[in-house]
Amino acid sequence: MQPMLELRQINTHYGAIRAACDVSLQVRQGEIVSLIGANGAGKTTLLMTVCGNPRASSGSVWFEGENITNLPSHLIMRKGIAISPEGRRVFPDLTVTENLKMGGFFLDKTAIEAGMEHVFGLFPRLRERAHQRAGLMSGGEQQMLAIGRALMSKPRLLLLDEPTLGLAPLVIAQIFEIIQAIRSEGVTVFLVEQNANKALHIADRGYVLENGHVVLEDTGANLLTNPEVRKAYLGA
Ligand code: ATP
Repeated sequence: MQPMLELRQINTHYGAIRAACDVSLQVRQGEIVSLIGANGAGKTTLLMTVCGNPRASSGSVWFEGENITNLPSHLIMRKGIAISPEGRRVFPDLTVTENLKMGGFFLDKTAIEAGMEHVFGLFPRLRERAHQRAGLMSGGEQQMLAIGRALMSKPRLLLLDEPTLGLAPLVIAQIFEIIQAIRSEGVTVFLVEQNANKALHIADRGYVLENGHVVLEDTGANLLTNPEVRKAYLGA
């Protein structure tokens, strides 16, 4: 079966810095795939390369059998991919509802209302805060909003960049539960996480990135027991 997302030999540069080095990976429909690695390994770069910003300097990105490497970001999003970016990036001066509308900017009114109901079903907290300015909410609530905003476009593939960074343990557990709930609704998830333990626990498969290179690829369960992963990423 053709993978939903495929990166073939991707190289991504920032000027002279090569942040992704010949990366090939696949995400199949219905999977949660986790990408783990140290700070600066190139995880964000890879997710953003899928979104077309920055662009790969060589290699190709395929989504549902189509080469999307050179498409502008807004067209990539319309293909059925959405991202909840690192640092959440909600619009602080806009309300929850207004932020959600931004995630569905290309939808008609009915689809926006349906999307909002769907997001409020997943995140009852956001319904309670619907008219609150996003900048006044807690980190966990802002993260829920960032994920909710990404879901507004009804993506088939959701990219999540560090969704639990800086959050309290209880909130982290909630976010991981929500990621699993999103997958059980049929959305495929490609997750970048510092929290390797939890990320691998919920993952069907995972990739380990070091200095821009994929150095390991296996099921989540196997990576959790891999001695190198345990030593480098699980504090064993
Ligand atoms: P972190 O968890 O710290 O975000 P990461 O694994 O996501 O790390 P990237 O943010 O992708 O890693 O960074 C990979 C490399 O690219 C690093 O050396 C970083 O300094 C560099 N880099 C990232 N963004 C830029 C940029 N806009 N300009 C120049 N270099 C960058």
